[in-house]
Amino acid sequence: MEQDQPLAPLTSLRLGGPARYLARCTSNGDLREALVWAAERGVSVHVLGGGSNTLFDDAGFDGLVLHVGLQGVDILRADEAALVTAGAGEDWDGLVAHCVADDLSGIECLSGIPGLVGATPIQNVGAYGQQVADSIVEVRALERSTLEEVTFSNVDCDFAYRTSRFKGADRDRYIITRVTYRLSRSRPEIRYPELTRRLQADGVDLQALAPGRVASGAVRDAVIAVRRSKSMVLDEGDANTRSAGSFFLNPTLSEVQLESLQERWADQGGEATDIPTFANVQGYKVAAAWLVERSGFARGTRRGSAGISQNHALALVNHGDSAADLLGLAAEIVTTVETTFGVTLEREPVYVPR
Ligand SMILES: Cc1cc2nc3c(=O)[nH]c(=O)nc-3n(C[C@H](O)[C@H](O)[C@H](O)COP(=O)(O)OP(=O)(O)OC[C@H]3O[C@@H](n4cnc5c(N)ncnc54)[C@H](O)[C@@H]3O)c2cc1C
Repeated sequence: MEQDQPLAPLTSLRLGGPARYLARCTSNGDLREALVWAAERGVSVHVLGGGSNTLFDDAGFDGLVLHVGLQGVDILRADEAALVTAGAGEDWDGLVAHCVADDLSGIECLSGIPGLVGATPIQNVGAYGQQVADSIVEVRALERSTLEEVTFSNVDCDFAYRTSRFKGADRDRYIITRVTYRLSRSRPEIRYPELTRRLQADGVDLQALAPGRVASGAVRDAVIAVRRSKSMVLDEGDANTRSAGSFFLNPTLSEVQLESLQERWADQGGEATDIPTFANVQGYKVAAAWLVERSGFARGTRRGSAGISQNHALALVNHGDSAADLLGLAAEIVTTVETTFGVTLEREPVYVPR
């Protein structure tokens, strides 16, 4: 058990004070031992993966930060399909690269997303037309209170847009230890117009490429190029890199809420068709980036040591060492978007108070 360990270096935002205790766990046994240790002392526990969706408080965390580092990748093949099981502590993008090189498709559009495998089911990680809910077969976890191993099927996980049971009803109840994805040697299906445009610009004709490694590799390269242009990959040479990715979720509105938004926009002289809106089963998803920018927050806006990325209106960037500044900017954006459009933005990263 390490004591008074700085948390900032363990996160992509590079923010947060020290953890009173830190345990780096590489097995179920380690996890159980750390949980028992904390329970016996009445110490609160926070589970940490790669820290790319986490904002710790400036005062740090007055408890035990339990870093999940379980390793191992196991690939079970049957004809053109494969079941890929990875330890929660495996690097996510490393797993994607490994699968693409191994002739498998199904997660290539999720290339370049930072963090570890164990966090991918938590918010049903997604990008460029894919989400892990499309490929997850099974999630294995330890229940924190009983220390029992539990297995969840895909349906059990209650996946939806950027959420799951692990972020909702069962938040903080389980520690995910292994995840199994079903992939196949197929040609990726491109569902995202920006990615189609990028492939066209690069002269890539997916239909002409062999399924598996070649086609998925071309998609992976295109995704990483698009992400890099938006500072959406971790790159210490990029001034916008200290972020948690998108700081706000795209809000889903009811028909009535959408009409109200359209009216407010019309009052400002705009047209309903200006608002990027995507109908889905829950309602109408509206681009949060559009709401933020139209509420007066330009890319590159600065408040103290916090700012909006120059390359992505939804990414808040740390330019110094103040979580308070970042939270302040986030609060200002939420209030202004609410006043301007009557829409409440929800934070995507997890804020961990002291
Ligand atoms: C540049 C950048 C780009 C990004 N792009 C995307 C994107 O395109 N799409 C997307 O969905 N996300 C994106 N993200 C957000 C983030 O990378 C993902 O949410 C990622 O899955 C978080 O993984 P992590 O291991 O870093 O999680 P952490 O930040 O360590 O943890 C996030 C949450 O999951 C919990 N958790 C982590 N591991 C476990 C576990 N094993 N068991 C139980 N709970 C656990 C934590 O307690 C916390 O609540 C981006 C982030 C950055 C910095």
